[in-house]
Amino acid sequence: MLYAPDVAAVDQPLTSKLAAFGTTIFAEMSALAVRTGAINLGQGFPDTDGPTEVLDAAVDAIRTGVNQYPPGPGMPVLREAIAEHQERFYGLSFDPDTEVLVTAGATEALAGALLGMLDAGDEVVLFEPMYDSYQACIALAEGVVKPVVLRPDVEGDGRYGFDRDEFRAAFSARTKLVLLNTPHNPTGKVFTRDELTFIGEVAAEHDALIVTDEVYEHLVFSGATHVPMATLPGMAERTLTISSGGKTFNTTGWKTGWMTGPATMVSAAKMAKQFLTFVNGAPFQPAIAAGLRLGDDFYTGLAADLEAKRDRLLPGLYAAGFDVFVPEATYFTTVDIRPVRPDGDGIAFCLDLPVDVGVVAIPTQVFYANPEHGRHLVRFACCKQFEVIDAAVERLSTLGA
Ligand code: PMP
Ligand code: GLN
Repeated sequence: MLYAPDVAAVDQPLTSKLAAFGTTIFAEMSALAVRTGAINLGQGFPDTDGPTEVLDAAVDAIRTGVNQYPPGPGMPVLREAIAEHQERFYGLSFDPDTEVLVTAGATEALAGALLGMLDAGDEVVLFEPMYDSYQACIALAEGVVKPVVLRPDVEGDGRYGFDRDEFRAAFSARTKLVLLNTPHNPTGKVFTRDELTFIGEVAAEHDALIVTDEVYEHLVFSGATHVPMATLPGMAERTLTISSGGKTFNTTGWKTGWMTGPATMVSAAKMAKQFLTFVNGAPFQPAIAAGLRLGDDFYTGLAADLEAKRDRLLPGLYAAGFDVFVPEATYFTTVDIRPVRPDGDGIAFCLDLPVDVGVVAIPTQVFYANPEHGRHLVRFACCKQFEVIDAAVERLSTLGA
């Protein structure tokens, strides 16, 4: 008998693994900003360039012929700079040849790690809300998402936290990985040493590997400290750490990322990564290496500048009437919209906002495995010039007018 599917392949080419996923919210909301001329506080990208040393190094590289395929694991100059950076900031030592891998952004590092380490049915414990590529990559690897909810402490200081029993209960005999993100997008939470110690202990009890996405490692505000999971006792041997130059050097479009960790985990991720992009961005690699070697002033200035921007946006969000959850790090602030929109429909709110007041934000429900948990929460980015933030705040002040 001839194979006769219900729907012709030409009408429905999409794999069933991705059927539940639409266009990414970032593409959708940035397009809406362009269409409506609204101020884009949605997608997290800075509107100014990063350090000239980094930009100049990329231009020099292009002009001096660094334009062909770099080596598969990344150019030695960048792998060495990444290893130095991990030693300088965290006291972690990695062999640039076997324990460091350069990737096409943190996004490809995540994809490589998940596709390289998961078998069908393997479970991944992670926190929701989560960066949107996590669920899609786990689905491509035919893994199973085991979400644990981060909830803001509305009675207390507004920090997002989690229930430790719920975290424990997410583990089973099929748990292969814990996928962590600190500092955290979209909540701006920085996991504390105590929280990370607990997470690491439970992971070790279940012999689970840890993949930790630390792309906002240098965007941390006063009062909070970024603790890399790999620095906790006993954790380096089971932890793969992912980061990227995008946030640190205002070069989100360069897509130069990396991972560091035990040779076995890096090698598993490399196995998948070599068939994704193989390599990317040759001239950007020495440029990001130059950035990683910039002095401490650059790094402290970066965090201070972003903190000032957060502090410029926050009063505007309060004044607009939202319940605001103060972030400890990252580009982002989340708010509960119910005081200004009683039905709490974050998606409808974000579709109306550009038209009604001329501002784009991101409905955080798209970051949840169970969207109901984040239905009423919306994310605003502060990584914009002061005058852009001021103009957005001015517009938000007309909400409900
Ligand atoms: N992880 C998180 C938590 C992010 O917010 C982002 C967005 N930039 C990424 C990963 C992706 O980073 P990259 O642009 O380097 O791929
Ligand atoms: N990380 C950025 C954000 O969360 C942008 C990511 C993207 O455009 N895919 O807004």
